Order: sequence, then structure tokens, then C-alpha cells
Amino acid sequence: MAGIELRQLRKSYGAFEAIPAIDLTIEDGEFCIFVGPSGCGKSTLLRTIAGLEDASAGEILIGGEEVSRRHPGERGAAMVFQNYALYPHMTVRQNMGYALKIAKKPKEEIKTTVERAARTLGLEDLLERKPSELSGGQRQRVAIGRAIVRDPKVFLFDEPLSNLDAELRTRMRLELADLHRSLGVTMVYVTHDQVEAMTLADRIVVLRSGRIEQVGSPLDLYENPENLFVARFIGSPSMNILKAETIADGIRLTGLDGPPLPRPDFVPAAWRGPLGIRPEHLRLHPGGMEVRLRAVEHLGDVTYGYATLSDGTELCIDLQNHRKMAAGDSVALAIPTERAFFFDQKTERRLR
Ligand code: ATP
Repeated sequence: MAGIELRQLRKSYGAFEAIPAIDLTIEDGEFCIFVGPSGCGKSTLLRTIAGLEDASAGEILIGGEEVSRRHPGERGAAMVFQNYALYPHMTVRQNMGYALKIAKKPKEEIKTTVERAARTLGLEDLLERKPSELSGGQRQRVAIGRAIVRDPKVFLFDEPLSNLDAELRTRMRLELADLHRSLGVTMVYVTHDQVEAMTLADRIVVLRSGRIEQVGSPLDLYENPENLFVARFIGSPSMNILKAETIADGIRLTGLDGPPLPRPDFVPAAWRGPLGIRPEHLRLHPGGMEVRLRAVEHLGDVTYGYATLSDGTELCIDLQNHRKMAAGDSVALAIPTERAFFFDQKTERRLR
């Protein structure tokens, strides 16, 4: 078992700096998830840790050992890919045992190790099948099994569930959580999926253009985003961002008519900037600010209403138990100031 430490790690492709310089410590046994918009460098960072990409500068420590010059197979890290990367002509048993065979382990040992991993993953009955005879979820389990038999210090996952349908994704997500618990080993995981990030991660690393915007537990990022980028990125549906400014008797929202909101102490008397409020924190309140719903989505357990404000801002409202609402209806909203986030116009950092 081992943690991972990145020290001033850089990765460039020619003149393009995909990762300008990252410092990050991932604790031993931690489930750490990289998120960020497409192209932010999540995969590059993971692949650089794995050794599939050469670092341009800096150090990578796995279990305290500097590994940045070592071959991928000699870093103590095993990578699981989104496309499984199984050998089609080999059986599950051969796929899972391949790395051990290459390492010239004795036949008996390979058999025992593969069968133990197969039991962990519920693959005992499928060992003699070929990948083409497996479901997507089973293939993904074989890909994980191939990593397990190598007994790595750390597991690296690159969007492992993204090729699975919604139901299987949920099941595999729970299996991954179980696997992490039972192996107790460090896992680093790249995903686009908010639910995966929020449910699996001990800590989430939010990346933007190869830089770390914030690192924290899922709840911490949700409740205490340090800046506008993280506030917008974490949470689904996204936080609403309104234009706001301080006026004589409080805070005025552009595009919404109604009485000003009370100004919290930490908001300067001459402030203008983005104000964030999550869809579930907008309250339906008789006498509140009127908006007309452009669309209503009924998701079963929750109903979202969408409105376009007079300044063009899009608003998403969690309509809670108001299931009868339909497009064209008007609702009166209150914004609880204690739930709102205020940001600096220029730095986009959160005021508090
Ligand atoms: P996605 O979520 O879309 O998979 P990502 O966050 O994983 O994106 P990366 O694949 O790490 O992003 O790419 C980061 C940046 O590096 C992108 O701008 C990408 O175009 C660039 N990049 C990646 N690989 C190469 C390469 N081999 N040569 C040049 N540029 C690359």
C-alpha cells in the first residue's frame, strides 16, 4: 500500500503546456477523483502518473519512491481503461494472468492468484470465456481483475464505467466502492460523472487547464467552493449564477424584480459580481420574485423548473413537491441569503 506525491509535475506536448506544474499528495488508501471540463488534463495527469506519458519535469512518488523515470510496469501502479483493453483471442483466465505470465511467475501461483481475484470479482464461472462472450460489466470486471492480480500499490482508473449503460454503471459503482473498501488500496480515478465523483471519492481534485482549482471532500466542495469555477462545476444541475450588486438598502439582482436581499457583513458596500444559488435552495414563497417557467422537467423524485430572466440569465429551480407545475406557469421565488454564494467580480474568488 502506498500514497502518491506529485511535486512540481509538468507535462507539455510540444509548445502546449497541458499540466503547467502540479503539487498534490494523495494519501495511502485514499480514493481520489480527478474532475474537470473536457480537455482540462485529467487523463494526461493520470497517464503521466502511470508512466504512459513521460513527465516533462517534476517528480512522481509512489509509496515514497521516485518513479518518474521508471517504465509503467515498474511503478507499482495498475491502470484500468475505459475501453477495457482486453486481448480478444484470450480467455478471461489468460487475460487476467497475462501480466503474471510475462513476469515469469510459476503456473501454480498464476492459477491461485487469478482464481482468487476472480472470486473477489464474481468471475469464477466465466474464466474460460472469451471477452466477446461477456457483457460490458463483466468485461470491465475482467479489466479490473487484470489489475488486481498484479497486486499494485495503487490503482489508476480512466473513466472505467463510461461505456456502460446507466443501470450497470450504478451497479459497478457500488462494486468499486466495495472493492476499495475490501482492498484498502489507493485509487485514483478520472471521471466526467458527477454522481461517481460525489459518491466514490474521499477527495475530489477539480482541474482547469491543467491547474488545480480546489481539492476537498465531495461535501466540502459542494458546500464551500472557493471560487466561481468550482461552484459551477460541482453539483448537478449546476448552481445558478445571477448578476448582483450592492445598493443602498441591500443586494439587488439584475433580471429579477423584487425587494433587495439583505447584505451579509462580508459583502462590501460597493460590490458588484456573480451571486450563486443552488436550484434546491431557491424557495417558492408567496409574494416573492415572480418568474415564468419556460420548461418543467419531471424526473420522478424531483421536478425542475427552468426560467429565463429579463437579463437573459438562465435559472433552474428545484420545484420540490410542486409536481403539478407546467411550462407557462409563474412561480414566486425567495432567495435565502444564507444559502447564497458571493463572488469577487475580477478574481472570481468567493467572498466570506
Ligand atoms: P476529456 O475529459 O475530454 O477526456 P481530459 O481532461 O482527460 O479531457 P486530456 O486528454 O488530459 O484532457 O487532454 C488535456 C489537453 O492536452 C487537451 O487540450 C488535449 O488536447 C491535449 N493533449 C492530450 N494528448 C495530447 C497529445 N498526445 N498531443 C498534444 N496534445 C495533447
